[in-house]
Order: sequence, then structure tokens, then C-alpha cells
Amino acid sequence: PNNKAAEFLPIVNFFAIKGKAVDIEPFGSGHINDTYRICTDLEEGPNYMLQRINNHVFKNVEHLMQNIALVCNHIKHKLIGQNEKDAEGKVLTPVPTKNGDLFFKDERNNYWRIFILIENTKSYDIVETIQQAREGGRAFGNFQAMLSDLNPLDVHEVIPNFLNIASRLRDFRDAINKNMASRVDEVRSEIDFIQERENKMNTILNMAAKSQIPLRITHNDTKFNNVLLNKEDKAQCVIDLDTVMPGYVAYDFGDAIRTIINSAAEDEADLDRIKLNIPLFEAYTKGYLETAHHFLYPMEIKSLVDGVLLLPYMQMIRFLTDYLNGDTYYKISHPTHNLQRTKAQMRLVIEIEKHEELLRDLVKREANVYLS
Ligand code: ADP
Ligand code: MG
Ligand code: MG
Repeated sequence: PNNKAAEFLPIVNFFAIKGKAVDIEPFGSGHINDTYRICTDLEEGPNYMLQRINNHVFKNVEHLMQNIALVCNHIKHKLIGQNEKDAEGKVLTPVPTKNGDLFFKDERNNYWRIFILIENTKSYDIVETIQQAREGGRAFGNFQAMLSDLNPLDVHEVIPNFLNIASRLRDFRDAINKNMASRVDEVRSEIDFIQERENKMNTILNMAAKSQIPLRITHNDTKFNNVLLNKEDKAQCVIDLDTVMPGYVAYDFGDAIRTIINSAAEDEADLDRIKLNIPLFEAYTKGYLETAHHFLYPMEIKSLVDGVLLLPYMQMIRFLTDYLNGDTYYKISHPTHNLQRTKAQMRLVIEIEKHEELLRDLVKREANVYLS
């Protein structure tokens, strides 16, 4: 056993894994949890992922793990029902402790869990090709589709109001009123930009209030590195299910598009480099509707571009709120980092607004493929 094995073996030993852990190494490029790969002594048996759950972000680990177990079991039963041979390669499998619990809490109040490692897969931080964008769309569309017959009220809201724009705006107004870092005067034009759009950005919640779109179970962290791809770069499995919660399909779509459509980084300082990559948008939309069209209502399809506007807008609000509060939430690498991020998301919203009709037409065109 290597050093890490000696350190983590006592934890791993609480779990009902097959075989003996012989090698434990840090793994993956996630920013929330600490992830380790466990290799066992069994030639045939599975290897595993050990994760320390970020208890700072996720206060209720019990609820979080109940969500994950519910969702994973549901998907696995469906896959088995469809005679899928490789069900364990297509959905996460949580491994219980020897007591049958879904996680283990150590004496230092660290929370641990284990999943079966899905072998021969990779994940990418950034979408670079049309093919990858399409696979990303397929993966998250399929994920939502698999959960579309579960009651959303059976999953816990692990981070209350996570994507609730009304609640984000309340926090933003609080930050303006408190003006903790005395920065309000410096960001007047950004504040105006946000306030001018409050009504328009309420579209999804208004549709929901009128029962035009249903509450669904959504992933809520639809970054491309949360899709495992196989050797042929085909989507194989959606991972990172910590934020699975009740939500609207346009949230997942909008958050995936937020990074895919942006030709620059989330915190790009040179705003003129922020341009829309329309072909990647088109490809993601194609893939998404391919796997999701059969369960979506027409109004949900209509709401997708509202999500594309909403998610960068909401991210802008979160960055600016943190800037006004004196940078207490996001890690920053220089004093105006949150302001720079705010401006970059603002420019992205502006670009999306300029191309809104085009994006709506593209979604319509792709959706029309499935009509008739
Ligand atoms: P975070 O919330 O920190 O992003 P993730 O659950 O996404 O944590 O895990 C981090 C990385 O570990 C993923 O991007 C992926 O590369 C890898 N990974 C996670 N779970 C598995 C798994 N079951 N099989 C293979 N790789 C995995
Ligand atoms: Mg992740
Ligand atoms: Mg995560």
C-alpha cells in the first residue's frame, strides 16, 4: 500500500467494498469534493471512488445522499428494465457502509462516501468540438428524461433557493443596502443593468406560477466535466449528483450553455473576447432535444432560451453580490476579481440578448425535427 492508502484505509474499511484496497490516489479535477481513486486486489472486481463531501457547501449530507440513492436506483432499474448490459457503467452506484449507511462520518466530522469507479472513461473541463457539445446535450437530456417520471417533491432541496432568481435578487438588494465594502458607488451601472432586467428574467418563474411548465428533477451543475465519456468520446454517464433538486429544465440547459456558448473564460478581462459560439450552441441543442424531446412540453422547449438568458444573469448577480459583500463567498485571486467576473457575465448577457432571436429560431428548428 502507498502513503495515501495508509491514511485512508481506516475510512475505506467502514465501507462494504469487494476485495481489499491496495492503492489510493487523488483523482479528477472537481472543485467541490475531494476525490480519491481506490484500486482493489481483485482482478475482476470493481475499483472505487472515495469522496469527502464538502460539508461547507452541503449542510445536510443525509438529505444529499438520500437524493443520490433515490436517483441512482431509479435510473439503474430503468437501465436493467431496458436490458442494458452495462448498467453499472451508465449510472453512479453508491456503496453503503458495512452498517448499511450511505455515508460515514469520522471523528473530525468529515463526511465520506464511496461510488463504484466507472472505468475507461474521461471527462473534459471545456467543450472544444461540435461532437462533444452534442454528447453533452445528449447526456443531460437523457438524465432529465430518466427522472421525468419521478416525483420532484421526493427529492430534497439540498441548497434552498439555489437557482431561485427572486431569492438571488433579494440577497443582492440586501447587499446594496448594507454596502459592507462601500463599493455601491463604483458599480452603479452594473446595478442598473441588473435592475432593468428584473421583470424579463422572471419569465421562467412566471410560467411556472401559471402551471405552464412543470417542476422536474434537474441536475443543477451541468458542467461538461460532469459527463463521463467513453473511448469513442460518446456520453456514457452523468456524475456529480450533489445538486440534484427540484427545478425547471431550462435551468440545466441554460447553465450548460452559459459556458459552452462563451468563447472566453468566465472571468475574461478583455470583454471584446466574449463572443458567442453559435455552432456549439446548435450542437448542444441538437443532442439535448434528441434525448429529451419525448418528455418535454412545448412550453418547456420554449423556455430553454429564457434559461440561456437567466443563468448568466443570475451568475452576474451572484458575483456582484459577493463583490458588494466584500468577497466572502468566491475565492478571488486579485481584489477586483469578482467585479471582473461580474463584467464578463454582463457582457455575455448582452451578447445573448443581441442574438436572442437567432437562438430561439435554432431551438425551434431543432424541435421541429420531432414534430409531424
Ligand atoms: P466535484 O463535485 O468536486 O466536481 P465530482 O463528483 O464531479 O466532484 O468528481 C470529480 C471528478 O472525478 C469528475 O470530474 C470525474 O473526472 C471523476 N469521477 C467522479 N466520479 C467518478 C466515477 N464514479 N467514475 C469515474 N470517474 C469519476
Ligand atoms: Mg464535478
Ligand atoms: Mg459537484
